[in-house]
Amino acid sequence: MAQARHNVDWDEMFRIAVDGEKARAYFESTPPADRHTCSMCGKMCAVRTTNMILEGKKVEFCTEK
Ligand code: SF4
Repeated sequence: MAQARHNVDWDEMFRIAVDGEKARAYFESTPPADRHTCSMCGKMCAVRTTNMILEGKKVEFCTEK
């Protein structure tokens, strides 16, 4: 689960969760605009930002849509 969380891999998290169907239902009731985040922080997601930096991508919050 930690690896799936690190990758923001929702399908894998739902697959290995104790109650994946309920988790998926909660997720889909308020889906994030960017699937590489959750609905809380959106493009300010610290996990997403860290992964982008580790992949060598440039992070510019003010210019991203
Ligand atoms: S940092 Fe925010 S958007 Fe990213 S996974 Fe955590 S709560 Fe969700």
